Amino acid sequence: MRDCIVVGAGAAGLSAALTLARARRTTLVIDAGRQSNLAAAGIGGLLGHDRRSPAEFYATGRSELMAYSSVELHQGEASHGVQEDDGSFAVTLGDGRRERARSMVLAPGMDYRYPRLPGMDERWGGSVFHCPFCHGWEVSDRPMGVLAGGAVGVHGALNLRAWSERITLLTNGSELTDQQREQLAVGGVGLDERPVTSLDGPGAELRAAVFADGGELPISALLVKTTLYQRSSLARDLGASLTQPDEMLSVEAIKVDAMSRTGVPGLYAAGDAAASVPPSMATAIASGYLAGASAAVQIAAGY
Ligand SMILES: Cc1cc2nc3c(=O)[nH]c(=O)nc-3n(C[C@H](O)[C@H](O)[C@H](O)COP(=O)(O)OP(=O)(O)OC[C@H]3O[C@@H](n4cnc5c(N)ncnc54)[C@H](O)[C@@H]3O)c2cc1C
Repeated sequence: MRDCIVVGAGAAGLSAALTLARARRTTLVIDAGRQSNLAAAGIGGLLGHDRRSPAEFYATGRSELMAYSSVELHQGEASHGVQEDDGSFAVTLGDGRRERARSMVLAPGMDYRYPRLPGMDERWGGSVFHCPFCHGWEVSDRPMGVLAGGAVGVHGALNLRAWSERITLLTNGSELTDQQREQLAVGGVGLDERPVTSLDGPGAELRAAVFADGGELPISALLVKTTLYQRSSLARDLGASLTQPDEMLSVEAIKVDAMSRTGVPGLYAAGDAAASVPPSMATAIASGYLAGASAAVQIAAGY
């Protein structure tokens, strides 16, 4: 039986696996190859890799891992997580094979859900984004929209003013309080409350948000509120606790402590799947490192 199974080879899983490899632990990394930022042209704000292509970053991470003979990388999906009576963990691979290990790191990333509007999918990760720290720089000083209601929308729009003076909050038909309107006016943010029906522009470029009444707002980029959900039932299968998404904390995250422990002995979680803070490559790498180190320490101690 291996020391650890790592589910996911994004920033978090690769980081956990590298830590386990360097602690000389036998590790199986299972990865379906759908890292969430592959839609973006570059990684924004990751020290040492600023603006690097995500695909190139993951290829480098995988090749670094392959230098350690105790690590095996399997391309495919893990499902049906079970904790056995002896405390070990098992998952089933796509070909029906069952793999077991003494510990497990869940790093499967998250399903980012954004408003379903025509024109959104083809622009996601480019002119439509959820994180100004990641992609705001590339659209600095252009006219931008923020698609979100309530306090989240007001907060997002005021924050985006750091990147451009031409920001409009699109509430998509939802009401704001007088106090929120005042905040926007003081912050120099425009407001349009009409329902949005689609996004328009050539190819993946954004030219305008289109409203139900046929009107348009010219914008080159759109910040959208996203809610993050678990991609699979693995965490639930294995008895980990999850947070519930609410308006401000829009994430169904696996609950972990400061060392990436889930509360189920031997089960760790890292990256977006366990992030209760705004997700990023930097935090995914850090939590993956902690999960890998925690698992290695647990295995060395024999429990
Ligand atoms: C469009 C977009 C752009 C972004 N841009 C930036 C940016 O510029 N800068 C920044 O810091 N952050 C950015 N982020 C956030 C950043 O990408 C994430 O925080 C980071 O990728 C999380 O890493 P992760 O390892 O947790 O998950 P992921 O990178 O999503 O990797 C998880 C991996 O696990 C695999 N997997 C899932 N389930 C299973 C399973 N059951 N079996 C096997 N494998 C499985 C997936 O296929 C995937 O390969 C962006 C996010 C998005 C959505």
